[in-house]
Amino acid sequence: MSEAAEIIVEDLVIDFPVGGGLFKKNYLRASSEVSLTLRSGEALAIVGESGSGKSTCARAICRIYPPTSGKITVDGEEITSPAFKWSQRDYAAKVQMIFQDPFGSLNPVHTIRHHMARPIRIHNPGLTGDQVEELTISSLERVGLSPAKQTADKFPYELSGGQRQRVAIARAVAVGAQFILADEPISMLDVSIRLGILNLMDDMKKDGIGFMYITHDIATARYFAERTAVMYVGHMVEWGESDSVTQNPKHPYTQLLISAVPEAGVRKDRESMAKKADIPVRSPESRGCPFAERCLQAMDHCKTEMPAATKLGEDHFVRCHLY
Ligand code: SF4
Repeated sequence: MSEAAEIIVEDLVIDFPVGGGLFKKNYLRASSEVSLTLRSGEALAIVGESGSGKSTCARAICRIYPPTSGKITVDGEEITSPAFKWSQRDYAAKVQMIFQDPFGSLNPVHTIRHHMARPIRIHNPGLTGDQVEELTISSLERVGLSPAKQTADKFPYELSGGQRQRVAIARAVAVGAQFILADEPISMLDVSIRLGILNLMDDMKKDGIGFMYITHDIATARYFAERTAVMYVGHMVEWGESDSVTQNPKHPYTQLLISAVPEAGVRKDRESMAKKADIPVRSPESRGCPFAERCLQAMDHCKTEMPAATKLGEDHFVRCHLY
């Protein structure tokens, strides 16, 4: 694997059509000029509420959603260029996505061995049966599913949620993924086993795998990811080194997320942190700060002028008129 493997997203805009008439279509802006870098051997957390655009960006990187504008470069190849000719199969071997519900991607009538062997064969058609089995077993062992041979004989319903998520990670490892985009990978798991999955992914960074960790939980972002980007309705509002963003949050929305992290023996008054308001729907015509309706510190120009990115430290940026 290349030492400097990275995914670079530049000014990514994604609009979805949402009705309109014969002559004019309406669009929802799901991603607004998002720029980020994910490096091999590191984790980048994308944090935000439902509808913040974090999964949309991951799906654009996986080439599920075509960008309206902007550029995505993976390991030096611009995948958004018409000149990009890789097959989806070859691309998927490099960039894999794992989802919130691992059970949804495992057919209950097939064994784990079948679920492992299928992608291995698709991505390595030249392997013999013995080699496929060897890779199946070593990948299951790599994710801690030992004894691997017994695990391979089981059906998905015989595994716990945490074990099924480990199978999903093992499948990505088996096809040689350099980057894993993990969309809320622990949110459906019991609290007691969440840490085990995070620790596994953390350990796999040592193999050079880069993780995009999509979550609504800023506390786990800080635990697992070197860098964190906070998103609100399609906009990156604060980003940088995780310790700096989470220990010294500057954007009122990041401060609101931090205030939602439970602390033993501490009651928090979240209503003193933000106004109650519906999460806005943004369109290409929307102007101003996306958080303006909820922000207690909003000024007149916040509703009309989008704040520029301001550098707060070596690796800490915010988009807010307060800075
Ligand atoms: Fe609040 Fe204005 Fe900053 Fe937006 S730009 S977060 S409305 S102060």
